[in-house]
Amino acid sequence: MTQIRAAVCREGSTHFSIEDAQLDAPRAGEVLVRIVGAGVCHTDMAVRDRQLPVPLPVVLGHEGSGVVEAVGEGVTGVTPGDAVVLSFASCGACPNCDDHAPAYCYNFGPYNFASARADGSVAISTAQGPVHSHFFGQSSFATHAIASERNVVKVPTSAAHVPLERLGPLGCGLQTGAGAVLNSMAVKAGRSLVVFGAGAVGLSAIMAGRIAGADPIIAIDLHENRLALARELGATHSIKGDADLAAALQDICPTGINYAFDTTGLGKLIELAFNQLAPRGILGLVGASDADAMLHFNETSLMGGGKRVMGILEGDSDPQVFIPQLIEHHVAGRYPFDRLVEMFAFEDINSAFEASESGRVIKPVLKVLAA
Ligand SMILES: [Zn+2]
Ligand SMILES: [Zn+2]
Repeated sequence: MTQIRAAVCREGSTHFSIEDAQLDAPRAGEVLVRIVGAGVCHTDMAVRDRQLPVPLPVVLGHEGSGVVEAVGEGVTGVTPGDAVVLSFASCGACPNCDDHAPAYCYNFGPYNFASARADGSVAISTAQGPVHSHFFGQSSFATHAIASERNVVKVPTSAAHVPLERLGPLGCGLQTGAGAVLNSMAVKAGRSLVVFGAGAVGLSAIMAGRIAGADPIIAIDLHENRLALARELGATHSIKGDADLAAALQDICPTGINYAFDTTGLGKLIELAFNQLAPRGILGLVGASDADAMLHFNETSLMGGGKRVMGILEGDSDPQVFIPQLIEHHVAGRYPFDRLVEMFAFEDINSAFEASESGRVIKPVLKVLAA
């Protein structure tokens, strides 16, 4: 049992309260991590606002980084003292986990949203009673978290000089954008890439587009400051979101778009993107839409043009492989995602959420304990 401080999300409150709590010792296959940093992602907001059916009270947070303090029985991949990035959880036993596609784990829902162990038990308790843990296999808005061997990724020694608190967002939002470009769509050099929405996921996709050698790289967003940052990070063109997008895209890409990537979840924009695809063009979707949202595409255009529309989760990342690759790109200066990050003290978690929702900060990261 470890005494911890945790940001608890309780029924009836739109704010997190930082509370004293007890955290179980790691069980078989589990890892106890001292949390150094934890990124704020839109999925945390969706739970806080009751848009996702996660049981309360719960400790959220799914972009943690930290140092292993103890390991449970049978854990051989990490040892106490290892610096790790925490990513999403997966079962390790279904056909997609077998295929190294854990983002599409058949058990993704229970492993990431049930916020409990497979046997229903939770690892956190306060004076008021049990609190749900294991959100995305981590619940990292706390000084300590219980993760599993499968979802902790060792930081390569080549990155020992990089502040560990910076690396947490690689576990979700950043690998989603970069992975969509490098893994899911496998963008080729010299081909056009359009990114709808220059938030954390879109800007990560733009940096990855530059790594892949895409050209042109076109950023679309409503906010001029984000377009300016997109140009600094690799976009060759930018278009204000309220412009005539179809005309502007045809000007830049008269033969159509090779790769379109939507982070907005807005049906009108997704359908516009589809209509601008070149033959064999690929449209990748990561935006959150309403649960009952439908899309309309012309069948002849989809079939006749050999076009593809793909849903993407977590950038098709196998975290054990892809997160070390992203860290190597960062160390080499090709993936400066720290430009998106602003640090907040753990106690200021509610301000960090406000800064994200107002659009002032692209990727807030909570600084928790010292590395
Ligand atoms: Zn699985
Ligand atoms: Zn996320």
